[in-house]
Amino acid sequence: MEDCIFCKIVKGDIPSKKAFENEHVLAFHDINPGAPVHVLLIPKKHIPTMNDVTAEDLQVIGEIHAAAQQVAQETGIAQSGYRLSNNCNKDGGQEVFHLHYHLMGGSKLGPLFA
Ligand code: C5P
Repeated sequence: MEDCIFCKIVKGDIPSKKAFENEHVLAFHDINPGAPVHVLLIPKKHIPTMNDVTAEDLQVIGEIHAAAQQVAQETGIAQSGYRLSNNCNKDGGQEVFHLHYHLMGGSKLGPLFA
C-alpha cells in the first residue's frame, strides 16, 4: 500500500527502532510510547484491520505471537507481565490501518475496564 505508514516502515522508507524482524513479521518501538516498553508487531503484508485477517494469514498471526514472546523476553518484561492488544476500527481506537499489535509492559498497566 503506497500511502500506508507501516508499509513504508517495512520498506525502510521511514526509519524505526526495530525490536524483531523475520521474513513475515516486523516489530518496532512505538514512537509515542504509552508504557516503558511499547513495541508494535506487524505483518509485513498489508492487512488493514483485524476484520481482514483470513485463513491464509493464520501463519503470520502465529509468528506475531512468537515474536511478541521473544520481544517480551528480550526487553525484560516477560516475568513482570505485559499486555498484547489490537485496536480495530473506530470504536477500538485504531489510527493506523495496517494490522498491528501493541506489546506493552514495564510498569503496572491500567485496567482495561473502568
Ligand atoms: O492502535 P493504533 O492504530 O491507535 O496505534 C497506532 C500506533 O502507531 C500509535 O501508538 C502510534 O504512536 C504508533 N505509530 C508509530 N510510528 C509511526 C506512526 C504511528 O509508532 N510512524
